[in-house]
Amino acid sequence: MTPTDAALAVADRVDAVRPWLIGCSRAELTSLLAGLGEPAFRARQLWHWLYARGARDFASMTTLAKSLRTSLSERARVGRPQVTSEQISADGTRKWLLAFDDGKEAETVFIPEADRGTLCISSQVGCTLTCRFCHTGTQRLVRNLSAGEIVGQLLLARDALHDWPSRPDGRLITNVVLMGMGEPLFNYDNVAAALRIVMDAEGIAISRRRITLSTSGVVPMIARVGAELGVKLAISLHAATDAVRDALVPINRKYPLATLMAACRGYPGLDNGNRITFEYVMLAGVNDSADDARSLLRLVAGIPCKFNLIPFNPWPGAPYACSSPSAIERFAQILSDGGYTAPVRQPRGQDIMAACGQLRSASERERLSRLKARLATGLVDDDHAPLPRTDHA
Ligand code: SF4
Repeated sequence: MTPTDAALAVADRVDAVRPWLIGCSRAELTSLLAGLGEPAFRARQLWHWLYARGARDFASMTTLAKSLRTSLSERARVGRPQVTSEQISADGTRKWLLAFDDGKEAETVFIPEADRGTLCISSQVGCTLTCRFCHTGTQRLVRNLSAGEIVGQLLLARDALHDWPSRPDGRLITNVVLMGMGEPLFNYDNVAAALRIVMDAEGIAISRRRITLSTSGVVPMIARVGAELGVKLAISLHAATDAVRDALVPINRKYPLATLMAACRGYPGLDNGNRITFEYVMLAGVNDSADDARSLLRLVAGIPCKFNLIPFNPWPGAPYACSSPSAIERFAQILSDGGYTAPVRQPRGQDIMAACGQLRSASERERLSRLKARLATGLVDDDHAPLPRTDHA
């Protein structure tokens, strides 16, 4: 395809549905503007407005000629998800349920701490995996999020926090974790495109050292994350034996611990300054014994890593209970005595529905109850009503 064809293809795509520009790469913006007869430096200006200044409309892009702004607005929108609901915890944690153009929803959470502000973003609506301790795992996968919808969560959060272009006392959002809804390595291309935008030094400019991608263990994709993106890796581990992990994280049946640990050992760039984080949710009587802790030490031997012990945050109907404080303390001590950092994650946002996926489930329940009310009054054709799944309700 020639550059002109590429430009036309982009312009056609843009023309078709007036899509978002956020999520476009530099090359795509350059092609789009070339198709409008604009020189390449205009793409750089547009990039700056989108990702360094956080412009939400073309009218505010005052370094672009008015005719170009009009032309762009006829073909595209800047793009942002809509806030369906927002919850703010007494501890400052903020959780948004965001809706995209097709009405599908995903969650984004901001967690402020003394030395950083972390944004937890989603990569999918729902999830195909069914990790037993995870509320999102009770929801069916609806679809992958696009690159624009992934990066749009960050832009929306910075809008809401008044974090553009930067505050005198520094940015509020300093770190990004892909630990929200979905398995990011099942949506790798869009996740990678979004992260390249997030890391770009002339835009959002969050260093790869401040980005963590968390996977349940999609082994064949792990090396690519290190080689192509260089971000930090977290593994949603939660068990030290295949027998327990098969039950908690069913993808383990496909990629058992031996293959997962081999992929971790081979993670590009792994060293003591770039350690893997093993996330471990503490479940009473399931994975929290002293023997479990010792098995864990044997499992990760030789891998530069640390642990993140997560007290289980139960939701209504959850099949597990959280380990006792003494069991968590004993577990952490054994790991620490083994030479590993093993902090216990402080529960955040407990006064709001903070377990991943709970806000979306509540929204679906509300929608279902509205739909049922309309069905009862004969306002909706039962055969064609898009009923959401209710097994997590
Ligand atoms: S833990 Fe992650 S991969 Fe597992 S069900 Fe939940 S969202 Fe999906």
